[in-house]
Amino acid sequence: EAHKETLGFQTEVRQLLKLMIHSLYSNKEICLRELISNASDAADKLRFEALADDAMFEGDSSLKIRISQDKAARTITISDNGIGMSRQEVIEHIGTIAKSGTRQFFDALSGDQAKDANLIGQFGVGFYSAFIVADKVTLITRRAGLTAEHGVRWESAGEGDYTLETVEKAGRGTDVILHLREGEDDLLDSWRIKSIIKKYSDHITLPILMQKEEWDADKQENSITEEDETVNRASALWARPKSEVTAEEYEEFYKHVAHDFEAPLAYTHSKVEGKQEYTQLLYIPARAPFDLWDREVRHGIKLYVRRVFIMDDAEQLMPRYLRFVRGVIDSNDLPLNVSREILQHSKDIDSIRAGSVKKVLGLLDDLAENDKEKYAKFWGEFGKAIKEGVGEDHANKERIAKLLRFASTHADTAEQSVSFADYIGRMKEGQDKIYYVTADSFAAAKNSPHLEIFRKKGIEVLLLSERVDEWMLSHLTEFNGKTLQSVAKGELDLGKLEDEAEKQEQEKEAGEFKALIEQVKEVLGDKVKEVRITHRLTSSPACLVADAHDLGGNLARMLKSMGQ
Ligand code: ADP
Ligand code: MG
Repeated sequence: EAHKETLGFQTEVRQLLKLMIHSLYSNKEICLRELISNASDAADKLRFEALADDAMFEGDSSLKIRISQDKAARTITISDNGIGMSRQEVIEHIGTIAKSGTRQFFDALSGDQAKDANLIGQFGVGFYSAFIVADKVTLITRRAGLTAEHGVRWESAGEGDYTLETVEKAGRGTDVILHLREGEDDLLDSWRIKSIIKKYSDHITLPILMQKEEWDADKQENSITEEDETVNRASALWARPKSEVTAEEYEEFYKHVAHDFEAPLAYTHSKVEGKQEYTQLLYIPARAPFDLWDREVRHGIKLYVRRVFIMDDAEQLMPRYLRFVRGVIDSNDLPLNVSREILQHSKDIDSIRAGSVKKVLGLLDDLAENDKEKYAKFWGEFGKAIKEGVGEDHANKERIAKLLRFASTHADTAEQSVSFADYIGRMKEGQDKIYYVTADSFAAAKNSPHLEIFRKKGIEVLLLSERVDEWMLSHLTEFNGKTLQSVAKGELDLGKLEDEAEKQEQEKEAGEFKALIEQVKEVLGDKVKEVRITHRLTSSPACLVADAHDLGGNLARMLKSMGQ
């Protein structure tokens, strides 16, 4: 029985479809890229499952993608013999969006077409981009390992709903048939399709086949022959020498592995030889993904072993604070049957990870040094994640500390652009500490009464106002031998920055105000630990200070708000 049913799209899918069609219209070529990218992922997944069970190949292990056109029917078909999908998988993957970051994405939409087009790109255009050029899409698929009568036919006009039907499908894998919209006939030209494939999908490691066309002298036109030709280069891009890969190729490959729409900010490609042999091609995205702050965020590294795809989302290959890095690591030494469990306890993986972290930090050092503008962009997107690294990656703490950027009283703006080195370069004669203040907003930090004396003396103070700052500071107590000192903690000892006259003045005052202090203490009772005369202030009458070893005021407030 065909068991045909009509199902409604999830509301989010409907909304996404509408947005996609309207705001990505000028990028219509990308739908081919997305569908080819899915076909390639499907082949990777099949290869991986077949490692454990060779029968998955059903005797056909030559994986490929085929693109064909039917000028009369005005359709383009993208076929693969990859993993395919079961009926349930079609419902889960094609009818719903289950990605983390979905809510943040919809919250961020503005209604402005240009802006929203960018957001969709960031979120991932994927399968639905087919509807940019097609007013009907048919997907026929069969999961590898299921028998021919378990094929599934999915069809939709990209509006409210889709139909599902059980069909026979002899070969495993997926065919996606695009019924072109009026006016999209240029896509029926095979020369045009080939040029799109060359531009966007040359890096795909499977062969992308099309039927060869030949000039027919009798008919005076091109006609399709029975012969196939491979349109793409079909070799693993990361395995090629750097000198033979162009910037455009690196960029397109990034868009495929990262499921991103925008070009990457930077990348590093290298082959490591020695005890462990592996190739790494790692990218820094231009923008933070929507789910960067989700607990269950996916990591972005694909693991290959000798060109065979092993897994996505290999979190053992990159520490949590570098979870935004995307790319490929291809090992020559790991066994093909590695599992996540094995990865967790593998010394080889530990050394690959350490090497990869070094590469990424090196790439960031290089940007910070040589391309300040790019680095500023990077910091704006990922600075908070890098701050987590101070506590998470002890081996690289010093290096990470060099990458940190702060707002400070020097420019007095919220822009985080001051490095520790910049700060130290501006330190006053006799200053031996790096001063900072923490608060829960930039305005609160900037207007803190604790800064008064520092402003008066022209001493720069770092202004910290992100949630992660206090935590970071609990792991970072000095930089290059200079202690980090909160201006709001303990006795304020400006050391050599105070002159003799000031010190004598202070002692004199301490005597004069003794009675007042006693009285304030009595009134406040055990609300405070101590009341002191201070010279921190120039215009405010009083301020609260934490003891040198107590929690900072901001952290204390944060813990209290979390009910601790
Ligand atoms: P993404 O590729 O980022 O996961 P897509 O919208 O492109 O998002 O695809 C959604 C899901 O649909 C894929 O993750 C995959 O599970 C499934 N899918 C799409 N195309 C294919 C295909 N050709 N073969 C098998 N599964 C597919
Ligand atoms: Mg996809």
